[in-house]
Amino acid sequence: MTPAVELKNVSYAYGARASLFSKGTSHIAVNNVSCRAMPGRCIGIIGESGSGKSTLARLIMGIHRPSTGKILIDGANAEDIGRAELSRRIQMVFQNPNASLDPAWPIWRSIAEGLLISGAPRREAREQALALMESISLDASLADRRPHALSGGQRQRVAIARALAVGPSTLVLDEPTSALDLTVQAGFLNLLLDLQEKQALTYILITHDIDVIRHLAHETYVMYRGEILEHGPTADLLSSPRHAYTQTLVDASPRIEGAAT
Ligand code: ADP
Ligand code: MG
Repeated sequence: MTPAVELKNVSYAYGARASLFSKGTSHIAVNNVSCRAMPGRCIGIIGESGSGKSTLARLIMGIHRPSTGKILIDGANAEDIGRAELSRRIQMVFQNPNASLDPAWPIWRSIAEGLLISGAPRREAREQALALMESISLDASLADRRPHALSGGQRQRVAIARALAVGPSTLVLDEPTSALDLTVQAGFLNLLLDLQEKQALTYILITHDIDVIRHLAHETYVMYRGEILEHGPTADLLSSPRHAYTQTLVDASPRIEGAAT
């Protein structure tokens, strides 16, 4: 089987570029990272703040280009795929749903934006948005409300619906629960689990929270200062980490009662 997403020795440096006349100083945010997500599986990428996780997400989304290395999407070089096609296949969900929701738009329109852009008639787009809302347990009565009228948990569901609207096979989820109250986090994780099972989605789940990983990720990569320290099936990795750093992540996070796996 071909991985949905595969990174081969990907590095990303930013900052002044060395030229003929100056050496420049560049910083390496992602260093020689290799990882792969098989279709329908969830890989977790865990690491503390500043370890390069969001940079990795931006590389996968094609927002940054690797300085060195290769990104393959469904086996094809990402650079050959083109922006529009890439965003049909891979969608991103951010930590803060407000970032992707226009405060002036009714919910349905935020969800349907991708469909409207690709030329769907307004009525059809709205109907699809309503169907998506139903599929993720958002009450249809919210369709004409603005984002501010919704709770944080509801807004994050809207962000998921918006990402799913264009029919992607992969979701990159960057700290998807970090802005949510603890009381709604478990419900949101279960929604992600449910969606993945029903639609065979591939998830690249980025988080600093080991309980999120424990709940969802089949395989986990531990990132530290731009590099992958170790990886493996999540249960193995968490029960017998090889690196002291991974152990400190595990120790720092008491297990949530009732969390699955
Ligand atoms: P994480 O998501 O794990 O918190 P990031 O990928 O956001 O980490 O950042 C990794 C490191 O790279 C941080 O030290 C961040 O400040 C730095 N960084 C990444 N991209 C840039 C950029 N374009 N300009 C300046 N600093 C950057
Ligand atoms: Mg980040």
